[in-house]
Amino acid sequence: MWNKDNIKVSIKAKKAVIYQKKHGKACTGTELTLNLHCKHYKFILNMVNKEALDTLQKYGIHPSVQRIAIMDYLLKNHTHPTVDEVYVALCKVIPTLSKTTVYNTLRLFSDHGAALMLTIDEKKVCFDGVIVPHAHFMCKRCGKLFDVALPESLKDFLPAGSDFKVDEAHVYYKGVCKACAMEA
Ligand SMILES: [Zn+2]
Ligand SMILES: [Zn+2]
Repeated sequence: MWNKDNIKVSIKAKKAVIYQKKHGKACTGTELTLNLHCKHYKFILNMVNKEALDTLQKYGIHPSVQRIAIMDYLLKNHTHPTVDEVYVALCKVIPTLSKTTVYNTLRLFSDHGAALMLTIDEKKVCFDGVIVPHAHFMCKRCGKLFDVALPESLKDFLPAGSDFKVDEAHVYYKGVCKACAMEA
């Protein structure tokens, strides 16, 4: 079980890397302690023990600083963000973050069932922190992605007695949203 001390250790290790990059030398204990007051540390620590951490634990994902921050973003932003959107939002508070890390982390969440990877738009892959089964509607004009309740008739995708074990199912609709239809 992961607790606050595990997270603190992980954050300290991350801070040491940032310090070394910035100052070109490894930090001593005192410098690290002083450095902990920075925005980045406070930002992450504020989130510890909250929903993001609980979610990672629930799905058996080791909670590193970056993973907590990315899960926190997904849970607070039900906007079906892309890798770029998550990266732009978080790179200011986590200077060591890279787009590759964001992509790998979101893929990891998806593989563990902690988030959904949506491929409705072939030009951009989106991620969803809402894992309750629901369908998606993509507007072909503005490109926005909307959540749609799954019709009762589609809740059972496979006939009873099927040999397949379903881990995830996706229902995508494409068309024109209300706002775009009114503009036409
Ligand atoms: Zn639209
Ligand atoms: Zn959704």
